[in-house]
Amino acid sequence: MRGAPVVPPIVQSATFFGGGVGDTELLYTRYGNNPTQLALGRKVAALEGTEASLPFGSGMGAIAATILALAEAGDHVVASRFLYGATKVLLETELPRRGVETTFVDPLSSDAWTAAIRPNTRVLYLELPTNPTLRVFDPRLPAVLSRAREIALVADVTFASPVNFRGAEWGIDAVIHSATKYLGGHSDLIAGVVSGSSALIERIRGMLKLYGAAIDPHAAWLLDRGIRTLSVRMERHNRNGMELARWFAERPEVAAVVYPGLPDHPDHALATELLDGYGGMVGVVLRDGAAADAFCGALELARVAPSLGGVETLVSQPRYTSHVAQSTGEREALGIPDGFVRLSLGIEDADDLKRDFERGLAAGSGAETGSRVEASTSSVPDADQPGAPGGRRARG
Ligand code: PLP
Repeated sequence: MRGAPVVPPIVQSATFFGGGVGDTELLYTRYGNNPTQLALGRKVAALEGTEASLPFGSGMGAIAATILALAEAGDHVVASRFLYGATKVLLETELPRRGVETTFVDPLSSDAWTAAIRPNTRVLYLELPTNPTLRVFDPRLPAVLSRAREIALVADVTFASPVNFRGAEWGIDAVIHSATKYLGGHSDLIAGVVSGSSALIERIRGMLKLYGAAIDPHAAWLLDRGIRTLSVRMERHNRNGMELARWFAERPEVAAVVYPGLPDHPDHALATELLDGYGGMVGVVLRDGAAADAFCGALELARVAPSLGGVETLVSQPRYTSHVAQSTGEREALGIPDGFVRLSLGIEDADDLKRDFERGLAAGSGAETGSRVEASTSSVPDADQPGAPGGRRARG
């Protein structure tokens, strides 16, 4: 339309004229029906191939509202035991206080899902790929049960982005992203989104309205802007992921590389079947914690920070961030030894990244075993931490 703006304007308004005789729907930004929020929802639904999508003010807002919409006091959830820390705390600590119990299962086993289901089970909950070991579990196992018993299958697929994985195609009823990560892509906003049938999304909107987790129009506009480059960003994230994973795998300083695109990853075959790209997250296991500290401390292009999915490469150590609450032994049992460094590869040139990581590896191999670099690497305030009361133990 001649004269119309190429870029949709932000409708930075809390409320809208209306509320008179004959008005059937009131527009109010907390209801998630501000035009900027609605346009964003339509865009994400188109990406996911779902009837509808609802943006939130954070990924946790989307997760909590979805579970609250589906389960009430007396109900039960079956969840994969491989979960983002705050989601685990929500299910393990917070929701039981509101009468909703969760059983955690090994998501690899179809029998485990089946055995955990009770007559009052309302939600099956899965996350893939997982943080930080990038496990990819088969959603078809819980999807079969969800169909047969009319239990909602909910999945957090933040690490994949809708470019690499579209959950609705695999039987997931509520597909959730922390849009803070790949969807936004620039580490400049906090947002979440849930996609599914129109009926389910309207149920979840009920919780959005009551618990007040709406996205601000400005963040919605930024997210819409980020999504415009999602597919080209993901192409580069996927390419950098594969190239850097192979490069690290050749390095003598590296004990192991964790990347679903490598044939030695336990879920390589399944990831190849389910995903359209292996993503930009790579785990690199160095000799020990001292080597990991020295590696992180020597980087100049990549920066030490929690969170992921942005255009800039960020590195973090799960023992200081997402898994600070666990003991060394517990972490080792999960495949996260003290030398584990998580890389969120950005869209930089792969050779520039290699030069930077070369510096890190040299510092890591020179580090004295047992020493610890106290600089910026040690205690980053963390968006990946469990973050709810009782969710952490002291370090040490
Ligand atoms: N889900 C996953 C897999 C995450 O990594 C995160 C944050 O790190 C969240 C959910 C929570 O998202 P937000 O920080 O946007 O609330």
